[in-house]
Amino acid sequence: MDFNLSDEQRALQETARKFAREVIRPKAAHYDETAEFPKEIFGQAFELGLLNLTVPQEMGGVGLPHLEQALIAEEMAWGCSGVATSMVANDLALLPLVIAANDEQKKRLVAPFAEKLRFASFCLTEPGAGSDVAGMSTTARRDGDHYVLNGAKCFITNGGYADQYTVFATLDKAKRHKGMVCLVVEGRPKGLTVGKHENKMGQRASNTVALTFEDVRVPVQNRIGEEGDGFRIAMETLDNSRPLTAMFSVGIARAALEHSLDYSSQRQQFGKPIREFQAIQFMLADMAKDIQAARLLAYQSAWMLDVGQKNTLVSSFAKCFAADMAMKVTTDAVQVYGGYGYIKDYPVEKLMRDAKLIQIYEGTSQVQRIVIARELFK
Ligand SMILES: Cc1cc2nc3c(=O)[nH]c(=O)nc-3n(C[C@H](O)[C@H](O)[C@H](O)COP(=O)(O)OP(=O)(O)OC[C@H]3O[C@@H](n4cnc5c(N)ncnc54)[C@H](O)[C@@H]3O)c2cc1C
Repeated sequence: MDFNLSDEQRALQETARKFAREVIRPKAAHYDETAEFPKEIFGQAFELGLLNLTVPQEMGGVGLPHLEQALIAEEMAWGCSGVATSMVANDLALLPLVIAANDEQKKRLVAPFAEKLRFASFCLTEPGAGSDVAGMSTTARRDGDHYVLNGAKCFITNGGYADQYTVFATLDKAKRHKGMVCLVVEGRPKGLTVGKHENKMGQRASNTVALTFEDVRVPVQNRIGEEGDGFRIAMETLDNSRPLTAMFSVGIARAALEHSLDYSSQRQQFGKPIREFQAIQFMLADMAKDIQAARLLAYQSAWMLDVGQKNTLVSSFAKCFAADMAMKVTTDAVQVYGGYGYIKDYPVEKLMRDAKLIQIYEGTSQVQRIVIARELFK
């Protein structure tokens, strides 16, 4: 076992860190305030090879191993987790194709993402089916050489800007997870309506919309895997993405710790810097300890994918622990700042709002515990 990063991994981490420091961080407050979509940042990230990390090299993509992707995810989220979420949304939407598409589909539906800046959305959640994925109501009906999609999706990241949608639907609701199919919708076909951008608590740089499908026709060539494979493909995708989401938490929490270290050395009360009080020191110590523990779990869950091991249990450990850790660390950072922590002119309240989302999306912290318990009972 070697906990050292290689020279190449360090160089990649440094590139991502520089990008986060010089390009993302200076704009983070602006995008948080305005909730505009930071397309210019994505353009620069694309040019630098920090976007679409999942697209395999044989398709002209970056094709980075999972551990390297995790290193980049921490840095992007340190810069702004809203930006990071939108960046990784592309990977989330392309992963089902990388996992289960045939060669012709990969060439047609994945490779273009290596050629120019494009956006894709992963469309699983519905108004009536969030944690209970298999309870979905969006239907896919076979009609000759097409499927006809009807239904609604909600909370879809980048949905307002997507060039392509990876949509999960049911062929037979009674079959629950065995009746699901994965289809790729290209562009904005007739019958697809994109809702308004949601006004969110945090991660406001990411675009979030509802989608409605009314008799949207999707060619059979755009079915990923077989009929009935949809649930398996979605779950495998989430196994792949959980290490990255865990690393978002690490990036957010590291930013909160750094701000807290600075502030507590400057802020004076009772004639000394507040970091000389043991109560503050213990908060800082707990932050540093828990951040490192989350980072190691996330590294392990990414590494397992790289060596071909199933990571369902460890990636749920990582996502659940890291999300709860980031919520605690950012809440404590606001505490370290006292009243100023509650004011938007200071950086830590944004981090607390941003961290909350990680306990919710890609499987809530409760759902992660359900997965962990299920794995324990096997
Ligand atoms: C900003 C944002 C971006 C998102 N991006 C995407 C995206 O790009 N694509 C996509 O498909 N989805 C996306 N989502 C959806 C997200 O994954 C869901 O919100 C999440 O899975 C929870 O589903 P829900 O909101 O319906 O909550 P519910 O499932 O209704 O859960 C409500 C509460 O009940 C708890 N709960 C539910 N079932 C159980 C149970 N069996 N045991 C114990 N507790 C339970 C939950 O943990 C939660 O606390 C996004 C969400 C947000 C807010």
